[in-house]
Amino acid sequence: MKSPVFKGGDATADVVIVGSGVVGALIADELAGEGRAVLVLDAGLRIERAQAVENWRNMPFANRAGSDFQGLYPQSKWAPAPLYWPENNYVGLDGPDGKGFKQGYLKTVGGTTWHWAASSWRHLPVDLKMRSAYGVGRDWPISYDELEPYYVRAEEAMGVAGPTDRAQQAISHGHGAMELWRQALCRSGERARLPLGADPTGAQHQTLERTADLLRQQQLSAHLSDRRDV
Ligand SMILES: Cc1cc2nc3c(=O)[nH]c(=O)nc-3n(C[C@H](O)[C@H](O)[C@H](O)COP(=O)(O)OP(=O)(O)OC[C@H]3O[C@@H](n4cnc5c(N)ncnc54)[C@H](O)[C@@H]3O)c2cc1C
Repeated sequence: MKSPVFKGGDATADVVIVGSGVVGALIADELAGEGRAVLVLDAGLRIERAQAVENWRNMPFANRAGSDFQGLYPQSKWAPAPLYWPENNYVGLDGPDGKGFKQGYLKTVGGTTWHWAASSWRHLPVDLKMRSAYGVGRDWPISYDELEPYYVRAEEAMGVAGPTDRAQQAISHGHGAMELWRQALCRSGERARLPLGADPTGAQHQTLERTADLLRQQQLSAHLSDRRDV
């Protein structure tokens, strides 16, 4: 793999990416995988996970009660981000209810991946056709079918699992893990008499292939125990 060259305070690379959030990271990964020397710049500080956990433990109760997602992460004075408890007025919103939506994003190495919640809903096909379907807003200049291959690539990169039904902001690619995962969840829900649903979530700890194996084994053992119950 080619690496950037650092010499006398200068750096040389084939590609320089500004911002190390999920977007920058995925592009960097793809270009480095094609053999290019990639340099990623970020204005923010490096975060130590242990420090973030410690900050959460030591956070005042008022901040926790107010869902302070921003306050855990140390900020560089050169790369500030919004703070709300107390508020630093970094985001200037006005208009009726302008302050109602408290935007969150981080300027840190790794960007906002530090506190994203892994919910990975797609747009529904009709969301791209709001004008023609409902007479409001605008239609997108591209169709859902054109967009979909990019969803698939992003979901594979993030390890998203979830329902395969299009009406539920679906996942369409051929990884058996997705459908097996949904079935396993629904089965647990039925047994516990809980109405569990399956949202697309990017929180896998294994590769997709390994997850598919585990779920197949789980499905098999559930099947065997069902037979024993009979
Ligand atoms: C609390 C919370 C929960 C969320 N949960 C979800 C969820 O469940 N599902 C979902 O889909 N999305 C969720 N999101 C949104 C999602 O996390 C973000 O949309 C996504 O991480 C943004 O990625 P990004 O790469 O575009 O930008 P960012 O991650 O914001 O990265 C941008 C990076 O660029 C750097 N930068 C900016 N300007 C400069 C500059 N001039 N020079 C150098 N570096 C610079 C910043 O420091 C930052 O690191 C959540 C967001 C928050 C705040």
